[in-house]
Amino acid sequence: MNKLMTFIALSLVSSTLSAGEPVWDGNQVVLESEKLAPGVFAYYPNNAREFERKGLPVATSGGFVVGKKGVLMIDTMLNERLHKQVQVLIRNQSDKPILYAVNTSFHGDHSYGNMYLPKETKIIQHVVTKNYIDEHFVKDTEFMIQNFGTGRGIEEIEPVAADILVGEGGRITLDLGGKMVEIIDFGFAQTGGDLFIWEPESRTMWTGNPIITMKPSLPWLLDGHLIETLNSLEIVYNFLPKDAHVVPGHGSVIARSDLKWHIDYLKAVKTEVQNAIDEGLTLEQTVERVALPEFQGYALYEWVHPTLNVPAAYKDLSK
Ligand SMILES: [Zn+2]
Repeated sequence: MNKLMTFIALSLVSSTLSAGEPVWDGNQVVLESEKLAPGVFAYYPNNAREFERKGLPVATSGGFVVGKKGVLMIDTMLNERLHKQVQVLIRNQSDKPILYAVNTSFHGDHSYGNMYLPKETKIIQHVVTKNYIDEHFVKDTEFMIQNFGTGRGIEEIEPVAADILVGEGGRITLDLGGKMVEIIDFGFAQTGGDLFIWEPESRTMWTGNPIITMKPSLPWLLDGHLIETLNSLEIVYNFLPKDAHVVPGHGSVIARSDLKWHIDYLKAVKTEVQNAIDEGLTLEQTVERVALPEFQGYALYEWVHPTLNVPAAYKDLSK
């Protein structure tokens, strides 16, 4: 799936939601924070709980962790307006410096706010994220303007070099002062530069985009790799204790059990697409066959399932 096809598909989806408007508007979203444990906060749009249950798109979520020495910000948002909202949410809880900010992926809604961080903040990225931004930044912002609209603050975004890089399969531990946080690469989960953040004391996991939000949202295999993505999500699921809090990429706080929906969906896609390949069906015939009505309900289903996920599975399983 190339970016142009993604754009066309997203435009079709957004035009069916409301003519010509982006799936969510970076000039309108209002973020709120939720305390999960002392010093541990999620943030997400104030319409998340209402929208996610209806399967409607929700803007970006993230969080922050406060230790005695300082704060870790998890994802820096699409534009200055949203980034500054996160800084205010942090300042409402702590006057400690923002020591670190981590980007769960290169996607602009998780990383464009880097340029608005205080000078002292160290930016943490996966090496795949850094390489993507180094090579594709201008094209990426053009793509994001097409999908999220002009005048949403994307025109002014400039890339900022990361200070700390996490390598393939890497895992680093940050000491925020009486608060240890781990940043983990569990494997390819959407972009190949996917970082998960784990605060063990409160048993809180931030996933970024690999988990959009609860049922009926579905994974977006924008860069393919169904088998690796399924494998990585199973590793994440097995890593988590039963009572873990999970902060997804685009919704309010969910439970470990909510990850099952995404894993079961990817397993069903894998099984059904494999059956189609075994019967000698073409990609077009497979897309038509593998409709999976039991996994419908997501507003972006008509884009994400037939145009991204089934083709990704077909490509992977045809190897
Ligand atoms: Zn996102």
